[in-house]
Amino acid sequence: MAKNEKEIVDRELIILGSGPAGLSAALYAARADLNPLVLTGMTLHGQASTTDTIENYPGFPEGVGGVELGQLFQMQAERFGAEVELDEAISVDFQSKPFQISTYSKIYKSKSIIITTGATHRKLGIPGEKEFTGRGVSYCGTCDGWFFKNKDIVVVGGGDSALEEGLFLTRFANSVTVIHRRDELRAGAILQKRAFSNPKVKFIWDTTVTEIRGVDAVQAVKLNNLKTGEEQIHETDGIFIFIGHKPNTEMFVGQLDLDNEGYIKTNKFMQTSIPGIYAGGEVADPVFRQVITSAGMGAAAAIQATRYLEDLEEA
Ligand code: NAP
Repeated sequence: MAKNEKEIVDRELIILGSGPAGLSAALYAARADLNPLVLTGMTLHGQASTTDTIENYPGFPEGVGGVELGQLFQMQAERFGAEVELDEAISVDFQSKPFQISTYSKIYKSKSIIITTGATHRKLGIPGEKEFTGRGVSYCGTCDGWFFKNKDIVVVGGGDSALEEGLFLTRFANSVTVIHRRDELRAGAILQKRAFSNPKVKFIWDTTVTEIRGVDAVQAVKLNNLKTGEEQIHETDGIFIFIGHKPNTEMFVGQLDLDNEGYIKTNKFMQTSIPGIYAGGEVADPVFRQVITSAGMGAAAAIQATRYLEDLEEA
């Protein structure tokens, strides 16, 4: 192989992403004897692995750690022959047959592909957010909560993530103030009940954060009350932002049909606009975004990919 030339790898089935959808797809494909290759992407085991405890995945009545569940998914898929490689796709060519996926060092050729590249947290896009990321601005309570022992912090958002992570952060922080742009939460009833009854959790309603201020680290946020127009400076040691996600589909623009929000369009068989390419989990799901629904979509995609490959063989 000449210097700078990428190694070429031929496979039957490649799965992009290693979250619940990707590893469930890998389990089903491995059990169909397809020897699937999982390219993990940057977040090994996906977003679920950044959750402290997952309480709504059946089979774990006491809950299960996000990291532990990811490891269990991987072990189970590997037991049947799936290979998991720490590598990241940087571009794809779905017009060629076999389909091509490029990483920094290799070109993978595959007859079928399952895309489970998940989603990434949304940013507020306000002054100070970028500058103070890692210095008081965070998008992951499980990862960064420890740094806020006995501190006062704010959480932005009114969904399940904001409350679940906010409640987790009360283990460390002195106080957690949830700042929500409406006066009604989107989060589910159980989380709302827990948050309202936790003495460390406070709420500021109808309010957005318009600026993050500090010197070496975050010291305050500027707030805007959407109903009164009143602005105020709220002192805080940290700001955790949980305002939803955007699908990781930049690589597929122009290659696959995407919806207006950038999610991959699939039919009920998880097939994308190109036969032989399937998608599952959050990258194709703006609605449910649960570990169990992602796992189910991954399994369904693998069943369909298996049928597709069998048909190719017979043709
Ligand atoms: P989400 O449900 O989309 O909630 C995002 C929140 O951020 C909403 O309250 C939204 O306000 C607010 N928001 C959006 N853009 C904003 C902006 N620019 N400025 C201020 N606030 C903004 O996202 P999520 O909480 O990450 O949850 C995603 C999915 O994962 C959901 O389906 C959720 O059920 C699921 N999830 C489930 C669990 C669980 O079951 N335990 C845990 C975590 C996540 P509005 O309400 O006004 O739109």
